[in-house]
Amino acid sequence: MNFTTFLQGNIFFGKGYLSKIIEISKHLGKITLIVTGKKSTKESGALSNLIDYLKDVGVNFVVFDKVEPNPDVNIVEEGGKVFLENSCESIIAIGGGSSIDAAKGIGVYASYKEIIPFLLGEKALDKKIPPLIAIPTTSGTGSEVTKYTIITYKERKLAIASPLITPNFAILDPDLTLSMTQNIVRDTGVDALSHALEGLFSLGANPISDLFGYEAIKIIYKYLPRSFAKKDDYEARESMHLASLFAGIQISQSGTGIVHGMGYPLTVKYGFPHGFSNGVLMPYVFKFELPAQYEKMSIITNILGFGTGNLYEDAEKFIEILLDFYKILGFPKNLKELKVKEEDLEIFAEEVSKNERLKRISPRITTYEDILFIYKNAYFGVL
Ligand code: NAP
Ligand code: ZN
Repeated sequence: MNFTTFLQGNIFFGKGYLSKIIEISKHLGKITLIVTGKKSTKESGALSNLIDYLKDVGVNFVVFDKVEPNPDVNIVEEGGKVFLENSCESIIAIGGGSSIDAAKGIGVYASYKEIIPFLLGEKALDKKIPPLIAIPTTSGTGSEVTKYTIITYKERKLAIASPLITPNFAILDPDLTLSMTQNIVRDTGVDALSHALEGLFSLGANPISDLFGYEAIKIIYKYLPRSFAKKDDYEARESMHLASLFAGIQISQSGTGIVHGMGYPLTVKYGFPHGFSNGVLMPYVFKFELPAQYEKMSIITNILGFGTGNLYEDAEKFIEILLDFYKILGFPKNLKELKVKEEDLEIFAEEVSKNERLKRISPRITTYEDILFIYKNAYFGVL
C-alpha cells in the first residue's frame, strides 16, 4: 500500500465557538473582509454576533454580502475588488458553502487580480491567498477544510483545487446551523453523504480518507433523519456538522467523482441545490460503479448493520439502503419527476465527459456513452 497525503488547517469545533474568532484575531490584520450571503446570517444573528466579537478586539471590517448560491465569477471579482479597494488583510467567510467558496475565489482575485485563468486551468496558483477563516452555517460542503472552490463561469461550475486556498482556520459552531430549514438540512446533509460515498469510491481514496468517510456515513445515517425531522435536536445538528467536516477532510484527499460532475449541469440549468442534484443521481451512479467497488459497498452495508455475510449481496443491498434512506427524507426518485427535459441529457453528458479529472478518479472507465446511460437511468428511474 502506498499513499501520500497532506492534512492542514486549524479546526475549532464547539457550541458557542464563533467566539474563537477573538483568539485568532491576530491573524486578521487591521481590516478584514467579511464574505456572506444576502439573508440567512443576518436573520439568524450570526453576522451581528461575529461583528460584535470583531469590535471587541478592535479589528475593522467591511461586509461583502452579495453571495448567492452557486456563486458566479462576477460576484467573486466584485468581492475581490472590494478587498483591494479597502486594503483588507484577511477574509472571514460566514455562511454556506457558496459564501466559503466565494471567499476562496475572492482570495485568489485579491492575490492575482484575476481568477478566470485559474478556473479554466490555464494558470496554477503559486502563492497562498490572504488569511482565510471559514465559518460554515450549513452542514454539507466541508468547504471550510477543503482545497476546492467551485465557481460558476459561463453557465458551468468550474473548480480550482489547491492547498493554497484551504482556509487557515475553520470555526464550526453547531449553533449556527440551528436556523437551517428542513430542505436545507436535507440537501446539505445529502451533499455530505455524497462526499463520504464518492470519496470512498474514488481512485484518489487512501486509508486515511477512508477512515473519515466510513465514520461520516455512520453519523449521517443516524443523525440526518433526526436533524431533518426536528429543528431543535441539537445533538443531531451538532453530529451533522461533524460529519460534514469529516467528509470535507476526506474529499480534500480523495476528490469526489462523477456524481458531482453530473450534478453540476443539473444545478446550473434547473437551479436544483447542489446536494439535491447529487442525491438524485447517487443510486444510479453507484449502481454503475458497483462492479468496481463492491467490496467497499459491502463494508458500508455491514457498518450500518445490514450485512448478510455475502459480499455481492451486501454490495447490492447498499443501493437499497440508500433508497430506503431517501424515503425517510422524502427525496425524489428520478429526473423525470423533476421535469428535467430528456433532450438536455445528451448536452450534459457531453459536458461531463470532457472532464479529465473525473475520468482519472472514477472507479470505472466512464465514456460519454456511460454517462448518458447513467443520466437516462436516473431520468427513467431504472436501477
Ligand atoms: P449555499 O448555496 O451556501 O446556501 C444555500 C441556501 O442556504 C442559501 O439560500 C443560504 O442563504 C441558506 N443558508 C445557509 N446557511 C443557513 C442557515 N444556517 N440557516 C438558514 N439558511 C441558511 O448551500 P451549501 O450547500 O452550503 O453550498 C453549496 C455550494 O458549495 C455549491 O456552490 C457547491 O458547488 C459548493 N461546494 C463546495 C465544496 C468545496 O469543497 N469547496 C464542496 C461541496 C459543495 P443566504 O444565501 O442568505 O446565506
Ligand atoms: Zn458537494
